[in-house]
Amino acid sequence: TKGVVMAETKSTCCYCGVGCGVVIEHEAGRIIGVKGDPDHPANFGRLCTKGATLHLSAAPDTLIARALHPELRSSRDEGRQRVSWDTALDTAADKFAAIIAEHGPDAVAIYGAGQLLTEDYYVFNKLMKGLIGSNNLDTNSRLCMSSAVAGYKLSLGADAPPCSYADIAHTKALFITGSNTAFAHPIAFRRVEDARKANPDIQLVVIDPRRTDTAEAADLHLALLPGTDIALYNAMLHVMLWEGWINRDYVDAHTEGFDALKKTVREYTPAMAATICGLDRKHIEQAAQIFATSPATMSMYCQGLNQFSFGTHNNSALINLHLATGQIGKPGAGPFSLTGQPNAMGGREVGGLSNLLSAHRDMANAEHRAEVAALWGVDSVPEKPGKSAVELFKALQTGEIKAVWIACTNPAQSMPDQALIHEALKTAEFVIVQEAFGHTETCAYADLLLPASTWGEKDGTVTNSERAITRVRAAVSAPGEARHDWAIVVDFARRLGTRLGKGELAARMFPYSAPEEVWNEHRESTRGRDLDITGLSYTMLETVGPQQWPFPEGASQGKVRLYEDGIFPTPSGRARFVVTEHRITAESPSARYPLHLNTGRLRDQWHGMSRTGLVARLYSHEPEPMLHMHKDDMERRQLANGDLVKVKSKRGDVVLKVVESATLRAGQSFLPMHWGGNTMGGQGVNVLLPSDFDPYSKQPELKHAAVQVEKY
Ligand code: SF4
Repeated sequence: TKGVVMAETKSTCCYCGVGCGVVIEHEAGRIIGVKGDPDHPANFGRLCTKGATLHLSAAPDTLIARALHPELRSSRDEGRQRVSWDTALDTAADKFAAIIAEHGPDAVAIYGAGQLLTEDYYVFNKLMKGLIGSNNLDTNSRLCMSSAVAGYKLSLGADAPPCSYADIAHTKALFITGSNTAFAHPIAFRRVEDARKANPDIQLVVIDPRRTDTAEAADLHLALLPGTDIALYNAMLHVMLWEGWINRDYVDAHTEGFDALKKTVREYTPAMAATICGLDRKHIEQAAQIFATSPATMSMYCQGLNQFSFGTHNNSALINLHLATGQIGKPGAGPFSLTGQPNAMGGREVGGLSNLLSAHRDMANAEHRAEVAALWGVDSVPEKPGKSAVELFKALQTGEIKAVWIACTNPAQSMPDQALIHEALKTAEFVIVQEAFGHTETCAYADLLLPASTWGEKDGTVTNSERAITRVRAAVSAPGEARHDWAIVVDFARRLGTRLGKGELAARMFPYSAPEEVWNEHRESTRGRDLDITGLSYTMLETVGPQQWPFPEGASQGKVRLYEDGIFPTPSGRARFVVTEHRITAESPSARYPLHLNTGRLRDQWHGMSRTGLVARLYSHEPEPMLHMHKDDMERRQLANGDLVKVKSKRGDVVLKVVESATLRAGQSFLPMHWGGNTMGGQGVNVLLPSDFDPYSKQPELKHAAVQVEKY
C-alpha cells in the first residue's frame, strides 16, 4: 500500500522449548512474514517448518478461527451470546465468589498452559494462591515436564537443567533418549548435525522404541520396549561397575547414596535387562562403554522418559549414570531435559503448578510459604498442595471442584482418558475458557469464553530449555476485543476481591498496567534463590539479548553450565543417587489388547493443532492421522495400507487409516498425538490413553497404552 512501511519486530517462536528467536515482518497492522533472528543464541537465524510458517497462522483468513468477543450462555441448553467485557468478568467474579463463599476456595480451579508467558503465569498463580487461597492451579506442563522437574529435584536438589545448547558442540557422546529431536526440537537437532559434521568422532546413541528420523542418524540405536528405560540404565550401571568405569573420585566427593544403588543394580545383569528391554545384551554393554568412557557425555531427553507412571524414576535412573561417571558440570556433559513447550520453564519459575511456589520455593516449607506471603502482602499462602491435572478434572467430575478457568490450552483434546475429561467438563457448574482460538474442543464446553491475544500480539518473556529468558514482543494489535491474558486476570482479580470483601487487598496485589511491572515483581521474588535474576531487566533483554539464569544483581553474565563446582542445592551439597527399579507400564498387552501403542509428535504439527492446523502447508508432510503398524501385524489382520481400522483400548476407540511402518518392531504401533475429536469426527487419539500417573510428578502415562486393532 502506498505510504505503508514494512516494519520488523523481534520476538520468539511460540512452539517448542528450543525458543528460537524470530523477526516478525508486519505492515499496516498485519503480520506478513517471519524469519529467523540471526542474533538469537537459540537458533542463529534458523527456523524449522513450524516456525517459518508462523505468519501464515496469523494470516487474515485465520481470523475465522479466532475468539474475538466475550461470549456467555445463561444455560447449557442455549448457545453463547456476545457480551461486553464488563458483563463477562462480572459474571465470572460473581460465580467464583458465590462458589468460594458456599464451598470454600478449593471448590474452584485454574488450568493453564506452558504457552502462557511468564507474566501471565505469575498473575494467575498469585490470584489462586494469594487472593483466592487455594493451590488448585495446574497447567498442561503437568502432562509434559513434571517428571523432569521431579527427577531433577530428587537427584540434584533443584529444578534446574545443568546444560546449554552450546554443550552440544562440546560433547563427545550424545545420548538422545525418549525424544524424536529431529521432529520435536528440529533446530536443536540441527546443532547436533553441525557438531557431528565438525567432529565426526562424536558418538550418537538413540534410545527409542521406534526407528525415528533421530534414530536413523544414530551410531547405535537401542529400540527398547516401551517403558523399560530403568532396566536399561540400571544394567548400564551394572556394566560400568563390573568394568571399573565408575568415576570414584567424583562419586566420593560430590554424591551420596551410591552403595544402596549399587546393591540394586547388582541384579540388573545385561542378560536380564536384554530380556526386559527386548535388546541385544551386547548393545547394552556397548552403550555403557560409550557413556562411561567418553571424555564428555551428554543426554537429551523428553516425553519418552517423562510420560510414564514411573517418569520421575526414568529421569533419576538416567541422572544416576551421569553422577556415577562424573559426566556433569563440565563442557559437553550432563543430563539435559528438553522442554516440550515454549514456556514450561517460565511457568515452573513462578511456581505455576499445584505443588510449587514462586521462584522454586517449596510448598511444604513454612519459611518459604511465609516468604511468598510477605512478597504478595497476604497473611499466608495455603500449605496443602492443590490438585494436579488428572486429579483436578476428576474432582470436577465428582463435583468436589465446581468451577474451572481454563486458559490457553485444550484439555478436551490433550488430556488422557478423554471420556473422563469430557464428562468432567459437562458436570462442572461453571467453565471459563480463555482462548485465542474459538474452535477448540474445550471451547465447546465454555459457559464463558474470554478472547485472548496470542503470538505476535502480546508482550512478555519466556524461558527456554537452557534457562535462557527471551523477550516476546507484540508486532500488531489483537483482533476484535481480544485482550492479553495477564490483563484479563488483573481485571478479574479486582472484581473478585471486591466480592470477597478483599477489594483493597486485590487492588494492592494487582496494581499492574504493563507486563514489565509483573515481571519486575517476579524478578524480585527470585532474589537469593537458585534462579536469581535480579541482575536482569526488560531493557537488558532487549539490548543485549536472551540471558540464562541465574543472573543475580552485579553479575555480568548468566550461567552457561550449572554444578561446575560439584556443589548441589541439596541439604548436604551432594547430588543424590536414587534407587530405581524397573516397573511395568500402567497397561501391558493382553490377549484382548495385544499391541503396544506409542504416541508422539509429527514434524509439522504442534500439540492439539489449534494453530498449526490453520496452515495448509503444514499438512503436506502428514495430511491426516494414521496408525503406524509393523507389516507382520498388518498381515495377521489382513490389512493393507490405507484401510480403515478401529483402534480400541479399555477406555474408548478411534477409527482411522492404517499405514505400514518400518520404524516399528512387531507388536508395536504408533499414533501421532495431535488430532482431537473435532478433526477426527468424534473422538481424538487421547481417548485411548490411560490417566494413571507417576506418584511423585503426577504426570500421566500419555506415551503408552495397550490396544486392539481391527478392520473397520
Ligand atoms: Fe519454533 Fe521449535 Fe521450530 Fe525453533 S525449533 S522454530 S522454537 S518450533
